[in-house]
Amino acid sequence: MARDNGHGSASQGSPTHRDDEGEGERDRLARARMVEIIAAEVAETSRWLERERLDARVMAAMAAVPRHAFVPESHRADAYENRPLPIGLGQTISQPYIVAIMTDLCGGGPGRKVLEIGTGCGYQAAVLAETGARVWTIETVPELAEQAAARLAELGYDSVQVRQGDGSKGWPEEAPFDAILVTAAASRRPPAALLEQLAPGGRLVIPVEHRAARFSLFGGVGDQELLVIVKNQDGSVIEGCHLPVAFVPLIEGKAEAGEA
Ligand code: SAH
Repeated sequence: MARDNGHGSASQGSPTHRDDEGEGERDRLARARMVEIIAAEVAETSRWLERERLDARVMAAMAAVPRHAFVPESHRADAYENRPLPIGLGQTISQPYIVAIMTDLCGGGPGRKVLEIGTGCGYQAAVLAETGARVWTIETVPELAEQAAARLAELGYDSVQVRQGDGSKGWPEEAPFDAILVTAAASRRPPAALLEQLAPGGRLVIPVEHRAARFSLFGGVGDQELLVIVKNQDGSVIEGCHLPVAFVPLIEGKAEAGEA
């Protein structure tokens, strides 16, 4: 699927090729270190995640997706640090640990239909695709939607469809989804359209604002929690997880949808 720079290059033995090889190797090592750090942080937060480790497919996807290709040139050196980075237009790419756990909380299985709200730079969508999911993703900022669509196509993530629009309305033409992943924080309750577009047995993974900012004493961080909402066969739902998180807000009720 995704390829590191320099692999499959025809220019065997040229100085450029050797440089690219070195760079590819450095990136692979940096990703392997990043995956170890994620594993340690998952173990530390297992109380919320209700698991000691993530699915092997998710860890393999984190080790495979070239995060450096998703961040601005000025932040390439930090691409494999376990922290969020700016991606321009006031938005951020999430911390790798968060991307890994959100992918895991969506549930596994190749061929699953997953809807992502908040494409950003497209990294989370690429990780989902790398686990074998078919991905539909919606971004409200037109420039980000266009850039992400171009980047994902260039990297060979053909199983990802990108659309510009208000993701809080979901993607009704493609519903139902096995999982819906929201990477921006909803105000208190998940948008009703997203719950509707979830298949029976499907999972909605979404950060929401607390009703009362429970941890606001700590500088406001932690006034959101990550919810996992599982839709039962009879349409009733079960809520879990509650991991404290910090996401940019989900903008609701703006912009008409259109293909990027
Ligand atoms: N998943 C992204 C990071 C998301 S940052 C990645 O891997 O890079 C949150 C994104 O949600 C931002 O790009 C923001 O523009 C977008 N967003 C906010 N409200 C939205 C909405 N209603 N519909 C679609 N995207 C939205």
